[in-house]
Amino acid sequence: MININSGFLELEANYLFADIERKVAEYRDRNPDRKVISLGIGDVTRPLAPAVVEALHRAVDEMGSAAGFHGYGPYGGYDFLRDAIVEYDYRARGMDIGPDEIFVSDGAKSDVANFQELFSVESIVAVTDPVYPVYVDSNVLAGRAGHKVDGRWSRIVYLPCTPANNFVPSFPEKRPDMIYICSPNNPTGSALRKADLQAWVDYARAEGSVILYDSAYEAFIRDPEVPHSIYECEGARDVAVEFRSFSKTAGFTGLRCAYVVVPKTLKIGDGKGGKIALNPCWYRRQCTKYNGCPYIVQRAAAATYTENGRREVRDIIRGYQDNADLLASAMRNLGLEVFGGVNAPYLWVKTGMDSWKFFDIMLEQAALVCTPGVGFGKSGEGFARLTAFGSPEDTQEAIRRMGELAKTRAL
Ligand SMILES: *Cc1c(COP(=O)(O)O)cnc(C)c1O
Repeated sequence: MININSGFLELEANYLFADIERKVAEYRDRNPDRKVISLGIGDVTRPLAPAVVEALHRAVDEMGSAAGFHGYGPYGGYDFLRDAIVEYDYRARGMDIGPDEIFVSDGAKSDVANFQELFSVESIVAVTDPVYPVYVDSNVLAGRAGHKVDGRWSRIVYLPCTPANNFVPSFPEKRPDMIYICSPNNPTGSALRKADLQAWVDYARAEGSVILYDSAYEAFIRDPEVPHSIYECEGARDVAVEFRSFSKTAGFTGLRCAYVVVPKTLKIGDGKGGKIALNPCWYRRQCTKYNGCPYIVQRAAAATYTENGRREVRDIIRGYQDNADLLASAMRNLGLEVFGGVNAPYLWVKTGMDSWKFFDIMLEQAALVCTPGVGFGKSGEGFARLTAFGSPEDTQEAIRRMGELAKTRAL
């Protein structure tokens, strides 16, 4: 009999969001007149910027004409987009990245999940705890994680990120091959400063590891000491891959466009004593398994780099940042300690109690939905994630309810 990839058996269903949904549905049944406001969603809510919409319309019209029709595109993405990425995301900040080091795709989730295919199955993976679950689950399916013991995978190295270490992961005792770092971070909302990231680049260089750097929330960075790219660190071109996305930057969660940077200088062992560059390997992988992000969508992504596009996108981000600031001060007024929210759309709130107990109080007393931190890993226990992606109206109403909640002293 043919057998299933045992990774699927090892991978338990993600109960977190199902449990949240069930609890919210039960609450709605009991309180049909109360409007539930979600501070748990990891999706944007503002409409696309006008410059993006215009570019979409233009590209659709092109596709309807014989002269402007586009079929399969280049595997790495169209030059007009790769050139804009290089110009505005890298060269403008003094980084040396070439267009042939950029691979355009339909999402950073698929890129971060797929990139592990380039490494041998024996490779040791390190992740922060708490963590964006995709890094772990994709390695479970690839057979790299071992077995689950007490909520942790036996072959995965966990790097706790808590207030005790300022959310800066310490170097592990056991040397990992692949190190996933997400900064600004989902779920903690924290961001690594240049010196801390440089230390990890130096570590990877010394140990011969590769850093898989997820920078999906780069557009939210406000602190000048936080690097916008790992390639701001010296020597990162030899050890790091960077994942970026238009999803959170420009509201492309429903449109789908992202890219990964694979420097040509990044080389790993070929298993025979020599070295092999990852850039041509990723190109080969994309040629085999992927036929590209739609022309129309790549035109829309390129529009985010025009003068109007950049201004409009910045304004949208500022709206979310205002939400984050308002939510953070409302939580602090409740007497709670709040982390994150400055360089990311996420607040990481110290609950002072069990994550789920906090969730229940917020729902029952204020009809507010948050995400229990324990759902992102062991070190997330005692925290809750709040997102700033709501509308200004919902955010205002959430803050008003938090004021009411403060009077009850339930938290
Ligand atoms: C939202 C998010 C992404 C972006 O994923 P897309 O597939 O590009 O929408 C990537 N990484 C993290 C940590 C995220 O939260």
